[in-house]
Amino acid sequence: MVVLVIQDHPQEMALLREALTHFTNPPILVEPADRLSVALSYLAVRRFDAILLDLNLPDSAGLDTLARVQAQAPELPVVILTDLNAEPLAILAVQNGAQDYVLKGPYNGGATYRSLRTAVERKRLMTDLNERIAGQESRRVSLFEEYQARLLELMQSKAIISGELHLAAQAITETASRVLAVERASIWLFREDRSTIQLKDLYESSACQHSAGAVLQADQFPSYLQALDREEHATAALDAHLDSRTRERSSSSLMPCGSGARLDALIRHRGKTVGVLCHESFGSPRTWTSNEMTVATSLAMMVTLAMESMERRESEKALRQAKEQAEKASAAKNEFLASVSHEIRTPMNAIVGMADLLWETDLASEQRKYLRIFRRAGGNLLNLINDILDLSKVEVGHLELESTEFDLSDLLEKAIEILALRANEKGLELACHISPDIPCAVIGDPHRLHQIILNLISNAIKFTDSGSVMVSVKPDPEIPSLGAIRFTVSDTGIGIPTDKLASIFESFTQAHASTTRMYGGTGLGLAISKRLAERMAGRIWVESTLGEGSTFHCCVQLAVPSGQTTTHNNIPLDLHGIRALVVDDHAINRLILHESLAALGAEVTDIASGHDAIEEWRRAAESSRPYQLVLLDCRMPEMDGFHVAEEIKRADPSQGPTIVMLTSRHWADDIARTYDMGLGGYLIKPIRRSDLIQTISIAFDRAKGIQQTAGFSSVASTHQTELKALRILLAEDSTDNQMLIRAYVKQTPYCLDIADHGAIAVERFKAGDYDLILMDMQMPVMNGYEATRAIRAWEQEHNLFPIQVIALTAQALKEDGVKIFDAGCDAHLTKPIKKHTLLEVLRACKGRHIS
Ligand code: ADP
Repeated sequence: MVVLVIQDHPQEMALLREALTHFTNPPILVEPADRLSVALSYLAVRRFDAILLDLNLPDSAGLDTLARVQAQAPELPVVILTDLNAEPLAILAVQNGAQDYVLKGPYNGGATYRSLRTAVERKRLMTDLNERIAGQESRRVSLFEEYQARLLELMQSKAIISGELHLAAQAITETASRVLAVERASIWLFREDRSTIQLKDLYESSACQHSAGAVLQADQFPSYLQALDREEHATAALDAHLDSRTRERSSSSLMPCGSGARLDALIRHRGKTVGVLCHESFGSPRTWTSNEMTVATSLAMMVTLAMESMERRESEKALRQAKEQAEKASAAKNEFLASVSHEIRTPMNAIVGMADLLWETDLASEQRKYLRIFRRAGGNLLNLINDILDLSKVEVGHLELESTEFDLSDLLEKAIEILALRANEKGLELACHISPDIPCAVIGDPHRLHQIILNLISNAIKFTDSGSVMVSVKPDPEIPSLGAIRFTVSDTGIGIPTDKLASIFESFTQAHASTTRMYGGTGLGLAISKRLAERMAGRIWVESTLGEGSTFHCCVQLAVPSGQTTTHNNIPLDLHGIRALVVDDHAINRLILHESLAALGAEVTDIASGHDAIEEWRRAAESSRPYQLVLLDCRMPEMDGFHVAEEIKRADPSQGPTIVMLTSRHWADDIARTYDMGLGGYLIKPIRRSDLIQTISIAFDRAKGIQQTAGFSSVASTHQTELKALRILLAEDSTDNQMLIRAYVKQTPYCLDIADHGAIAVERFKAGDYDLILMDMQMPVMNGYEATRAIRAWEQEHNLFPIQVIALTAQALKEDGVKIFDAGCDAHLTKPIKKHTLLEVLRACKGRHIS
C-alpha cells in the first residue's frame, strides 16, 4: 500500500513513518508532501492507495484543503490527521467525504493502519455501490423509455384509431404481454348493468394466440369487483392467490395455468369504470414496479381511446347514412320539382302564347288593361318556373352543357346590350372591359355562360341606385391556362351583409329580406349561376362592403380551339398613324377606349377632365402632331363634352379633329346636340367594339367627304342593323306638329299613335303596349309633366318596367330640364325638331323590354 502523507511538520512526519513501517504485510510505503501544491503535483502523476491529510497546511487550510485533494483524486480514500482540539473540524471533514480521522502523535501504528485499511475498503464499497445504483438507474430509464416508445407506437397504430374495437383490443393485449413480460394479457368489459363481464380479447404469449367471447357472472367475484372500484388505477397483486383482492378471480383463471402474480388496470370511459385490463404472470410471485403499474394504466387508457374511436366511427357512419339519405331525398325532391316544373311549363306556354294572340285582337281598353297584367304575371311565372327547372336539373345532374365554339366578346356585348337600357334608366354608368389577352374564340356553353353573366350584371344594376356597374373579363390570375377566364362584376350599390356573403348562393336566399319587395326576385339566380360555374370547372364568390358596393367574381374553364392564342386579330379598321384623344371622367371607360383604339393601331392619350383635354389638345395642335380623333364623354363634372367640343371647334373651325361624342343617359338631347354641332358621330354607352369601329369609320369617311348612301347621311349612325318596328305614342296638341312627325316616320317601319293631350296619352298608354312616348310638355287638359307623372305612378303600381318618355320642349332652359327629369322623362328634344334628329334618336332607341 502506498500512502501519500500530506503534512508540514517534519517531526510529525518522522513519527508517522516510524509507526507505519512495522506493518510489512502488506508493506506500507509512505510518500511525504509538506505542501498542498506538492501533494497535488504528486497526485497528478503517481498512483497511491490512500491519503493521510493534515487540513491546515502552509498553502491551504480547513475543509478547502480536503475539497482540493478530492477534486484531484476523487477515487482515493482520505483519512484526516487531526489534533485533539481540532477534532470537530475532522468530523466535519468526514461528513464531507473523508473516510476517517486519526489523532496526531504519539501514533498508534496499528490503529492508523486499520483506519487506512478500512478507509480503502469503504471507499471501494462506496464506489461499487455508486456504480451499481447508476447502472440500475440507467436501466430503469432505458426500460421506461422502451415502455414509452412501445406505448407511442401502439397509440399511433391504425388498430387504435381505426374504430375497429376487436383489432384495437388484440393490439393492446399483445403489446401489454410483450412490454410487461406476462404470459397472459386480457381485456374484459362490463355489461351496462355490470351483471356480467365479457372477454373482449385474451392474448397468450406462449401460443401467440388470441381468444374472446367468454362471459363471467359478476356475482362470482364480488370482493374483486369491490376492490377494483376502490382502486384509483391498478390493482397489483404479488401473489394473486394469496391477495384477498384477486383471489376470487385467480382461482378461476390462474390456477389451471400454474398461478403467479397479476396486475389489473381499470378501463374507464366517460367517467365510469367499464372494464379491466388484466396482466397475469405465471410461476413465482412477482413484485410490480411503479413503472409497470404506470404502463398498465396507460395501456388501459388505450382501450378507452379505442372505444372512443369506435364511437366516433359509428357516429360518422350514422352521419354518412343520414347525409346519403338526405341527398337521396333532395334528389327525389329535385326530380319531382323538375318534372312538375316541366309539366307546368307546357300549359303555361299555351297560356302565355294565347294571351299574346289575344293582345293582337280588338279589345276594349279595360280588357286590354287586364290582359296586360295577365301577360306580365304569366311572363313572371314562366321565368320562375324556368329558374326552378334549371336549378333542379343542375342539382340532379340532368343538365347537359353544350360544347360549341363562340365569340366571347360577342357574348359579353350581347349581355351588356340587353341590360344597358335598364342601367341608363337608372342613370348608372355601365362599362365592360375585355382584356386583350383573352382568347376571342372559345369552346363551351354560350347560353349558360350568358345566363351567369346576365344574372350577375342584372343583380348589380338591380341593387345599385347610383354610381356604376363595371364588368371586366380577363385571364384567371390563379390558373395559368389559356381558357381559364375570370369575369368580375363590381357595383357601387347597397352591398351585402358579411353574414350573408355565402348564403346568397343558396336557393331561395336573399340578403335583403326586409327590402325584397322593393327589388323583387326569387333568390334563385345566384344558386343557378353557382352550380353552372361549378359545372364549367369554376366557381363564383363575392366581396362586399355594406353601403359601398359588391364585387362578384366568376371563373370558368373554357376550351380554346387549337392554333388560337389571343383575341381580335383581324383588324377591320386601321388607325395606324392616327393620334386619338379619349376624354372621360370614368377610368374604366378610358381604359376600355384606350385599349380598343390602341388595338386598332392608334396612338392614344386619355384624359379625365374637360379642362385638361383642351390643354392637351392645344399643346398637340401647336406641336407638329395634332390629334386627328377625339372621343368625348358628353357628361362630365365641371366641363362637359359639348363644351370641350365647342372650344376645339372655336380654336380650329376649318380643319378640326374628328369628334365622336360618348353619350349615355338622356341620349336624345345629346344626339340632337351632336347633330346641331355637326360633330363626327356619337356612341351610346356601354360601347360595343363593333359600334366603335363603325362609328369611327363613318366619321372619318365623312371628314374625307364621302357621302353615306344609306338612311341618315349627316351624322354617322351607330347602328346599321334593320330598324326595329317601334310602337310610338305621340302626345301632342298641335295638329301641325302631329302631321309633321307623322310625315317624318312615314317611310319607316315605326307605328305611330297620337294623343291630343296628356289625359288621352295616359289612357292610351294604359291600354296599349308602346316602346316609346314622345311627350309634348305644354298641352291643354293635362300637360306633359302631369301625364308623365301619372304614367310613372301607374307603372309603379302595376310593377311595370318603365317606358322611355322623350319630352318635346320649345325652349331648353336649364330649369326646364330639371323639371322634365323630375317628372320622370328620360330625355328631351328641343323644338323645332329636325327629321334626321328625330329619326336618329328613334333609331338609337332599342325598344322597351317587357319584363
Ligand atoms: P334574386 O336577385 O332573384 O333575389 P339571386 O340569387 O340572383 O336572386 O340573388 C340573391 C340575393 O343576393 C339577392 O336577393 C340580394 O339580396 C343579393 N345580391 C345579389 N347580387 C347583389 C348585388 N350586386 N348587390 C347586393 N346584393 C346582391
